[in-house]
Amino acid sequence: MQDKQEVTKKEQYNLNKLQKRLRRNVGEAIADYNMIVEGDRIMVCLSGGKDSYTMLEILRNLQQSAPINFSLVAVNLDQKQPGFPEHILPAYLESIGVEYKIVEENTYGIVKDKIPEGKTTCSLCSRLRRGILYRTATELGATKIALGHHRDDILQTMFLNMFYGGKMKGMPPKLMSDDGKHIVIRPLAYCREKDIERFAIAREYPIIPCNLCGSQPNLQRQVIGEMLRDWDKRYPGRIETMFSAMQNVVPSHMCDTTLFDFKGLKHGAEVVDGGDLAFDREELPMQPVGWQPEDEDSDSPVQRLDILEIK
Ligand code: SF4
Repeated sequence: MQDKQEVTKKEQYNLNKLQKRLRRNVGEAIADYNMIVEGDRIMVCLSGGKDSYTMLEILRNLQQSAPINFSLVAVNLDQKQPGFPEHILPAYLESIGVEYKIVEENTYGIVKDKIPEGKTTCSLCSRLRRGILYRTATELGATKIALGHHRDDILQTMFLNMFYGGKMKGMPPKLMSDDGKHIVIRPLAYCREKDIERFAIAREYPIIPCNLCGSQPNLQRQVIGEMLRDWDKRYPGRIETMFSAMQNVVPSHMCDTTLFDFKGLKHGAEVVDGGDLAFDREELPMQPVGWQPEDEDSDSPVQRLDILEIK
């Protein structure tokens, strides 16, 4: 009996640590990108997956302790996929007492109608979904739209674009919507997927499966995901360093003529970004940049939450 109590105490301790880390990550991302300002009404897009449940919980958490006022409205789009358990999200959202709206649109039917059998349906489906979410944000008077993509999604997108698209392009933590009317934010941008996964399991969210539409999973994304997970196991810290690299771009040392005026370089001009290191052996740190050992980082004293303070 005592053993069981000990385990439960330990589990609770670990869950608290995890929650603290997620809150810190979200708070830092919000501050770094000025994602939320006084009076914002944030439409939190809820798919019923682990990421969006976690995002909603952490945002509600921060709402309690933030020195600014903002409101949240959770939105789920019921795309009328066969077998979609439509009672789950309303029951959950009512149980936690959050304002919400379920939007019902049969995008599944449209996609099935327009796309021939066996072809990828995701691009039309996501375009339709985006349009509906933008319209809903306007109807609800939302000033920001929050999506649940995390650090690993951002890195995966970066590699997908590099490997298949010939571009160095990730997924921005904050951006203007295509119609220029909405600001989209990704508060989980600094959160590790494995933390979200552990948190979602511990919190026992009523997860809705993401394969109801019957679409084939994106194989290229899966391959990249496996590659990153493998690197994470074999080279601890590599993921953190790569994410730091996305925040430390040196345009004068890349090859994009639209980002840096290579043609305009003149004799006698100022040295840019440390000059040319082509002949030098560059000093690299022993430990990957941005990495802390797994068990120590949750209690790290780093507190950079100038906007959202953790209690
Ligand atoms: S997986 Fe299904 S629901 Fe998701 S974007 Fe693709 S078609 Fe749409």
